[in-house]
Amino acid sequence: MKSARRHARAADGSRARTERGRAAGDISRIGGGTRIIAVFGDPVEHSMSPTIHNAASAALGLDRVYVAFKVKPKDLATALRAIPALGIVGVNLTVPHKEQAAQLIKRLSREARTLAAVNCVINRGGILFGDNTDARGLERDLRALQVAIQGGIAIVIGAGGAAASAMLACARLGAGQIVIANRTRERGERLARRLSRAARGTKLVARGLDALVDRALLASARIILNATPMGLTTPRFARLDYKATRTDCFFYDLLYSARPTAFLKPAVTLKRRFADGAGMLINQGALAFELFNDIAPPTGVMRAALYARLGRRGRK
Ligand code: NAP
Repeated sequence: MKSARRHARAADGSRARTERGRAAGDISRIGGGTRIIAVFGDPVEHSMSPTIHNAASAALGLDRVYVAFKVKPKDLATALRAIPALGIVGVNLTVPHKEQAAQLIKRLSREARTLAAVNCVINRGGILFGDNTDARGLERDLRALQVAIQGGIAIVIGAGGAAASAMLACARLGAGQIVIANRTRERGERLARRLSRAARGTKLVARGLDALVDRALLASARIILNATPMGLTTPRFARLDYKATRTDCFFYDLLYSARPTAFLKPAVTLKRRFADGAGMLINQGALAFELFNDIAPPTGVMRAALYARLGRRGRK
């Protein structure tokens, strides 16, 4: 409510600036007073964060520009130290920096501590504050998609940082049980132990990828989320018995692309409900935008910019 009011007030107050800055790609709006926000990653060329953040800043007429820096893991500490020196407003972190940043930044939100990963660093008067908006972004998207998992079983494929965010999101949506299906079972077990307190009433169970052909388990799952790069870094997805799933089972891939991903394709054929990670990207980005700029962004503008960049239409 508070952020919606701030959004509306700023939208009114900045109409003149909005006209000036409407075109996100118009570099003539960059001047001596323009402040920088950035993403650090390696690789980083593929990042869609500049697209969505610049579109929102331009729509609001903010004198800010969002750029991508390719930062090698060995240079992360130096790059973070440069943020106050350069007056950078804040940065997002992507692969492979999220976990290392949680070790380097002293002031962390409870969420970043729980996930042991930082995806968003805010420069508060020269002091760096680390947060993580991935789980909240996914939770928002699942709520918008009206995925009902209260008391039910969720299967999360993977046991890395993205899987940890998916588990927190499902636990907050009230999942009764989360089954972590990971290639390396011990990693799933470690993750389950680490998140057991944050997941509160939700039972966490770690299994290998054999869980994806366990017909009894699949027949009771309300949602299956892919939090691995399978299908992107491999020619196909793992063996999964799609036909054994409930007709109302929701398939969510944290990856996103112009067309349905390898994980989603069989679900589309079976007419199951599905979504890819574009909505998570927009929502985690919107939460970060608000932390950086102290104003809620127009998420429709962010979505339109992302879809135009991906070359696709519609919600999915
Ligand atoms: P990560 O830490 O590298 O984790 C990768 C996970 O995938 C591990 O559990 C790993 O299993 C598994 N894996 C990798 N290759 C595999 C293969 N060939 N076969 C089976 N399992 C495999 O990565 P992450 O940071 O969690 O990210 C995972 C994905 O989520 C990325 O592709 C990322 O783009 C996406 N993501 C999307 C958003 C969004 O906003 N939409 C946000 C964050 C992440 P092992 O433990 O056995 O190695």
